[in-house]
Amino acid sequence: MALCCPLMEDLVGNIGKKGFSAPVANEMGFIFFLIQYRAVEAEALEELSSRASPELRVRGGLSLSGDFGIAYCPSCGRKLSDWLEDNAKEASKIATTSRPFVTSFLELARKRPGRP
Ligand SMILES: [Zn+2]
Repeated sequence: MALCCPLMEDLVGNIGKKGFSAPVANEMGFIFFLIQYRAVEAEALEELSSRASPELRVRGGLSLSGDFGIAYCPSCGRKLSDWLEDNAKEASKIATTSRPFVTSFLELARKRPGRP
């Protein structure tokens, strides 16, 4: 895999693991990189969420994972849509690896307050 720089190589290699990663979302005709963080490994997230001790049940809850889309590499500045277009086969592979760890747009829309 030849990503734009060593940081993106590390972030893509860390998809689904605790810490920071760069999964690829590919749905509804859009493909893009995310920056994602996880407080725990993906497989431990459900168990930890359901078994949190009272000390961890703070107002507003804990954020054990989260992500946001990025247009440019945070290290080298490359326009990531260019990389995704130039490396469509590799991008598709990363998107497949990422799928279990990326919340879909439809799921996000359902979680928004005021939405049916
Ligand atoms: Zn880069």
